[in-house]
Amino acid sequence: MADFRAGGAPAPIQAEYLGMSLRLSELDVENLTYFRYCASHHFHLQRCCGCQLLRYPPMPGCPWCACPESEWSEVDGRGEVHSYTEIYKAIQPGFAESLPYLVAIVDLDVQKGRPSAQEALRVVGNLVDGEGRLASPAEIAKLGIRTRVRLVFTDVAPGLSLPQWTIDEEASRSAVRPWRWDAAGVIGSVGE
Ligand SMILES: [Zn+2]
Repeated sequence: MADFRAGGAPAPIQAEYLGMSLRLSELDVENLTYFRYCASHHFHLQRCCGCQLLRYPPMPGCPWCACPESEWSEVDGRGEVHSYTEIYKAIQPGFAESLPYLVAIVDLDVQKGRPSAQEALRVVGNLVDGEGRLASPAEIAKLGIRTRVRLVFTDVAPGLSLPQWTIDEEASRSAVRPWRWDAAGVIGSVGE
């Protein structure tokens, strides 16, 4: 995979998504490069040239050692749900027809527990089906904390695809059973 920075600054991204205008400025080189990889359905993160740790979200310097140099590295998009929220009232009008939808924070397997035991690369995305469409209420009900998920890409516009999460049905079960709160606030297990 080419380094998109090799040919100079990448062009800005402009797209429409659910009635919203999205724009990434040509000044935001790190995010432009990240989304260029996403557009080709490859998940790349920056690896620090100083301490060798990966980081997310894309940013100019390393949050651990402050080194400004990094290289883009392809990363396996598999992980476990760290937390999630279900949205039943659309703040953005464009989402009104998609209610309810779920936003997950996922601990990537790569680099979990580094640089300290409590840390992980935590990547935010919507829960979607295998084709990248927002998940149905029945699918949402199957997800809990520690559910195994994998990354899929939702094509939004030419040159723009969003990294999202879908339940990884092929994954071996987590050591701890996934769980969620039900409507009455009671903790129950899911995934059986
Ligand atoms: Zn570093």
